[in-house]
Amino acid sequence: MPLKMHNTLTGLEDEIIPGGVKKNNIKDYPPVTIYSCGPTVYSYAHIGNLRTFIFNDLLNRYLKFRGFKVQHAMNITDVDDKTIKGAREEGVTLKEYTEKYTDIFFEDLKTLNIEPADFTPKATESIDAMIDILEKLKEKGIAYDKDGSLYFSISKFPDYGKLSNLDRREIMSGLRYDTDEYEKEDVRDFALWKAAKEDEPSWDTPFGKGRPGWHIECSAMVRKIFGKTIDIHTGAVDLIFPHHENEIAQSEAAYGEQFVRYWIHPEHLIVDGAKMSKSLGNSYTLMDLREKGFSPRSIRYLLLATHYKKQLNFTFDGVKQADNTLERVDNFLLRLNDIADGKENNTGIESIINTFLDKFTETADNDLNISGSLGVFFDFVHEINSLINEDKISKNDAEKVMKAIEKIDSVFGFIFFKDNKENEIDSERIEKLIEERNEARKAKNFQKSDEIRDLLLAEGIILEDSKDGTRWKIRK
Ligand code: AMP
Ligand code: ZN
Repeated sequence: MPLKMHNTLTGLEDEIIPGGVKKNNIKDYPPVTIYSCGPTVYSYAHIGNLRTFIFNDLLNRYLKFRGFKVQHAMNITDVDDKTIKGAREEGVTLKEYTEKYTDIFFEDLKTLNIEPADFTPKATESIDAMIDILEKLKEKGIAYDKDGSLYFSISKFPDYGKLSNLDRREIMSGLRYDTDEYEKEDVRDFALWKAAKEDEPSWDTPFGKGRPGWHIECSAMVRKIFGKTIDIHTGAVDLIFPHHENEIAQSEAAYGEQFVRYWIHPEHLIVDGAKMSKSLGNSYTLMDLREKGFSPRSIRYLLLATHYKKQLNFTFDGVKQADNTLERVDNFLLRLNDIADGKENNTGIESIINTFLDKFTETADNDLNISGSLGVFFDFVHEINSLINEDKISKNDAEKVMKAIEKIDSVFGFIFFKDNKENEIDSERIEKLIEERNEARKAKNFQKSDEIRDLLLAEGIILEDSKDGTRWKIRK
């Protein structure tokens, strides 16, 4: 059975065909090229954002499990209205401000056992690629200049609206439009490049000093890294309009070829029926949950276990249930490990394992049906547990079962997940950072001292100040 995923562009579950040309053997395909909209590094990521990044991880891991090669890029949005505002409020440079949140973000990904992307371009390092698109759009008369800013004229791109399937009349009448600030000729148009303002960072370009609009950043980074049509583009559903619609318009108008074959949009994590978001004040960061005593492993499980096309309703009870489920998994692994030598081999074990792996694949091939795949896994656990109860499994059989579970965990990433932070801790570095922090405090540079405390906290290290000095401990 082929792997099919729901494609927002066609509204169908489409077979994933990397490069667009069908081959008989998965090994013959070129790498699946994937671009995921990454974080805007103006604050800590909340667990809603992290659900989306866990989905990207699941997709990448499953493609590899199926034998595809993968090239994954995820950008860092390090210049936009929010990052500029944040840096201004803290009185630091944009670079200083965004680097702090970028480091913490990557630390969060590591904590959740999310495999690193192959490319992590930053918007501020991709200005040349933006200029290339903008020049092409100007040459073609699709981009126009107004008061030093460049805008995309959507009336010149007849395909506008094909992704979001918004009623064309709504778009054309300006009922639905990008609410980005700045003056434009037509309310429907969107900003490509924003004229420099005095207190904002800016770059010199052939069309004047300014800074990028958000949408052009992603179009440029996709082009810079892959240079051609890519297979998959991801981002949560809120990005379909206007962000992804605008990415398509810019890229296809500039380069005259299809931008992306498969658009995959996971649903939101919600709290009491509302999208988790910083602006609604209903968000939790990974750090918040760890401070409440929840383990990264349980959080990974929770964020992974609901089908990506369904909203995930976040509750603390949900994390506790994840804890219990993982305890059952651990007990099962212990039992499997404890099987003594000298028992007879089970002649049916190979067939049980193969059926399990086939069912797992068949289920996940259907639009990454994770809840179904977990069901298949827990049925297998149940079946093997019964064999253990009946003494019908040898040590050799148990090793084969363990191998199959390792294979599955290359997709799940929570079974053999170790929250064992002790092994990774570099105490010399921590002591050095504490010293730096003490000096910053003495110099009344509380911003710096807070930054050091936050950085360590993001890594799971808690600092405790007392009259005898500062001690550190590992957060459990
Ligand atoms: P941002 O840092 O705001 O640019 O968002 C990073 C990613 O998180 C994007 O793909 C967003 O669509 C996604 N996202 C934002 N809010 C949520 C949410 N509540 N649940 C799931 N994904 C979200
Ligand atoms: Zn994007």
